[in-house]
Amino acid sequence: MDSTILKLKKLVNASKKIVAFSGAGISSESGIPTYRGAGGLWSKYNPNIYATINCFLQDSTYYWNFFRDERYPIIKRAKPNQAHMCLVELEKKGTLSCVITQNIDGLHQEAGSSKVVELHGSTRNISCMNCKKQYTMKEAYDRLKEQMPPRCSCGGALKPNTVMFGEPLPQMALKEAMNAAKNCDLFIVLGSSLVVYPAAQLPVIAKENKAHLVIINLDPTPLDDIADIVIRDNASNVLPKLID
Ligand code: NAD
Repeated sequence: MDSTILKLKKLVNASKKIVAFSGAGISSESGIPTYRGAGGLWSKYNPNIYATINCFLQDSTYYWNFFRDERYPIIKRAKPNQAHMCLVELEKKGTLSCVITQNIDGLHQEAGSSKVVELHGSTRNISCMNCKKQYTMKEAYDRLKEQMPPRCSCGGALKPNTVMFGEPLPQMALKEAMNAAKNCDLFIVLGSSLVVYPAAQLPVIAKENKAHLVIINLDPTPLDDIADIVIRDNASNVLPKLID
């Protein structure tokens, strides 16, 4: 086993309160494209049009076309991969305190992780902006086949329960994530470019509170310099090596 992996394995075994922090990269091997990096969604869709709340409020047709052609078919098919499953194993061992995720795909929960903090919401649930009625992705998809943009039975506009650019993060989730980062002894970043704030502040908070910081990401990140261990590999290659 390579010496960096061995060092990480020792660190994982010695830690009692591990926090995993996942980004789009952890789900790339489940077939969900990342935003940034090679083949990222932003090379095809302009985030200023498809992911900002102002544009959504002006004309949500762009978003719903993207949802119909890209988001829904891909997320409907996606299954958790080895990396998601390994985090479930660490939780069962009692050493993983929680998973903080920037992902909106619900794959950690589908894998079986029970303590998941979703910083950017979930695309699996859709709400009416007027009466707050909840719809599943499938229900929204069926509605938009009839009506573009889709509407609630009360006539209100529908919106996915995700945090778009220009929207605040859910305060409860952010508070939970900050507490977890402050109180962990090992903080492992998995597949995040660490450029979206305030989420990217969490590894810094963990480090300032004396936790070890590990970054497992294919590309360099702005926080590599403060990490104790950096591994540039697929999360699903690395995590299974840490589980006995
Ligand atoms: P990002 O797209 O900015 O960066 C992903 C990073 O993952 C890249 O740096 C890339 O090098 C790395 N990567 C790709 N495949 C990997 C793998 N198999 N193993 C390890 N690393 C890998 O993603 P982010 O940092 O999560 O950023 C931001 C936003 O993207 C978040 O707000 C999130 O909501 C959203 N997002 C979520 C999903 C999803 O839910 N699956 C998909 C796309 C984007």
